[in-house]
Amino acid sequence: MLRLSNICKSYQMGEYTVHALRNVSLTVEHGEFIAIIGTSGSGKSTLMHTIGLLDRPDSGSYEIDGKNVTGLSDTQTARLRNRTIGFIFQQFNLLQRASALENVNLPLLYSGKTSEGHRGQKVLERVGLGDRMHHRPNELSGGQQQRVAIARSLVNNPSIILADEPTGNLDSKSAKDIMALFRALHRQGLTVILVTHDVEVAEHADRIITIRDGEIQEDRRNETPIVQDAAREEVLELLKEGARKRTWLAVFSEGMALTTQSLRALWNNKARTFLSALGILIGVAAVITMVSLAMGAKASVKEQLSRLGSNLLSIRTSSRNSQGVRLQAGQISRMTLEDATAVSQIPSVKRDSARIRADVQLQYGAKNWPSEASGVSPNYGPMRAEVPLLGRYITDEDVTRRAQVAVIGMTPLRSLFGENENPIGKTIRINRRSYEIVGVLPERGSSAYGDQDDTIRIPVTTAMYRLFGKRYIDGIDAEIDTIENMPQAQEDILTLLSTRHDRNPKDKPFDIRNMAEIQEAMGSTTKIMSILLASIAGISLIVGGIGIMNIMLVSVTERTREIGLRKAIGARRQDIMAQFLIEALAISLLGGLSGLGLGIGLSLGMAQGAGWPMQISNLSVVVAFGFSVFIGIFFGLWPAMKASKLDPIEALRYE
Ligand code: ADP
Ligand code: MG
Repeated sequence: MLRLSNICKSYQMGEYTVHALRNVSLTVEHGEFIAIIGTSGSGKSTLMHTIGLLDRPDSGSYEIDGKNVTGLSDTQTARLRNRTIGFIFQQFNLLQRASALENVNLPLLYSGKTSEGHRGQKVLERVGLGDRMHHRPNELSGGQQQRVAIARSLVNNPSIILADEPTGNLDSKSAKDIMALFRALHRQGLTVILVTHDVEVAEHADRIITIRDGEIQEDRRNETPIVQDAAREEVLELLKEGARKRTWLAVFSEGMALTTQSLRALWNNKARTFLSALGILIGVAAVITMVSLAMGAKASVKEQLSRLGSNLLSIRTSSRNSQGVRLQAGQISRMTLEDATAVSQIPSVKRDSARIRADVQLQYGAKNWPSEASGVSPNYGPMRAEVPLLGRYITDEDVTRRAQVAVIGMTPLRSLFGENENPIGKTIRINRRSYEIVGVLPERGSSAYGDQDDTIRIPVTTAMYRLFGKRYIDGIDAEIDTIENMPQAQEDILTLLSTRHDRNPKDKPFDIRNMAEIQEAMGSTTKIMSILLASIAGISLIVGGIGIMNIMLVSVTERTREIGLRKAIGARRQDIMAQFLIEALAISLLGGLSGLGLGIGLSLGMAQGAGWPMQISNLSVVVAFGFSVFIGIFFGLWPAMKASKLDPIEALRYE
């Protein structure tokens, strides 16, 4: 069944070479019960690991049922370890946090037979532990723990049992029980090979091989072994690697079992799991909150700008020539009310308003307030969306009559009038002249241009002729019918005004500014701010991911022995990899989902509590969450790869 020829294995210890095995040749038949005996350091374990496919020899050949197994892939040897060989260790190597039954059922996970959990119960009964199934290893005696380990080696119906010093950690009574158990298993047709340094233990076997300094010294047989054909066929079938197709159901239940395993590992380390998820939690919450804040700010700036009116052109007299040199007073082309009327005749101009402003002193009773007054036409109201809160706006009649009426802004209103005083119909003084308040302007709040409510509107003619004593206006605001017509309208107005003032349009005697341009400039500022905020939050997500990687690496190191054991009982690379990836993913999902809740909660809280203009963006929620999952996989991958590549024997030896 097993044939080892000229197996050599040596370890390099600095300049010194330890020959653990020298030219060992050994043949084992089906159904044999063999004891390998030798002093400590004679190479027994090395030989056992070679037989159990946990270690590869330096040279020599190894055949199982006539098939060379030295060149098999990781997956193929994992399969053989899982189904053909049952390995029992001196230190039992049980998972401390799992019950006896769960420990016994572990190999089923790697053979895709998780649904056959009842097998664990059967073998536990067979080793006499039917009443201890739900106890954890630390609640069992040494002898009982070794029985659990034996049950685990039996659960996949192996044809060979390999035991390395199985009684080394046991008292003599338990040791005798365990040997009796091996004898019973042997009688049922199993091939049993055990290693011991104890001559008394070795006497239980049918064949005793003595090993010293890596060489076989003596091979003493007691009786002729029985060959079992059933077991042989099982090995042969397993060697036809990959021939057997796995059903989707098996793959699914295997995945479920792996997931349960990983989640349990996380649950057992609650504090650590929470701390590593915290990084992702903060990152996701930060992304969502910051983006909500930026989007809200952007929307509110946009709204403020749109209140200034879009499609608007602002026309001023230019005080510089085309070379940028300041013009003298006589050279400046002053605009008049007739210019405003002429501009309104251009077809693409929907409406326009003359505009003149100056600083003024307001007075009501004993109260004074310095402010600014704008002389405007009735059109100015609808163009700037100035719908009076109270009373009315400036009318055409006011303009014709040069009426001494005013529409007052919120800031002077608050300063001059008391809480409950209705200002409509009251008379205030503007630069010592009396004006009747006919309306109140809507509240605008502050902007980049200062307090927009610290102003007062009066008819443009009143401002020119009565208040400021001027024959000209400061400028004209014109509303164009569509955005597309704006550039053409800009040119038409420049040509018209230049002709009216006998100037060359090329000298740009008038300065025409486009509100849409101003809006765009403001919009791009808020965009930069959003990107800045989002990238700061993104960085915190990456830091969170590195936190996960850190924890997973610690977890891999800490569980090196566990990984070694899992591999020894048949876990393939991808099984170990999947286990750690699922753990990393679960942590980031946990962090991501809680971060999602926290981020949305914070955004709503800030909107409700502080009254900030928050806008939760669906995209940011999806991106932040998706990114956290990606980070889980990305940063979990390296520790998972590291774990999956561990050599089973090296890992088991790790302290
Ligand atoms: P036994 O099980 O008979 O006590 P081992 O097979 O464990 O002996 O070891 C045989 C020899 O190989 C010993 O001298 C031991 O020091 C050496 N050896 C075993 N494993 C390693 C290793 N990983 N690195 C270096 N030397 C080793
Ligand atoms: Mg040993």
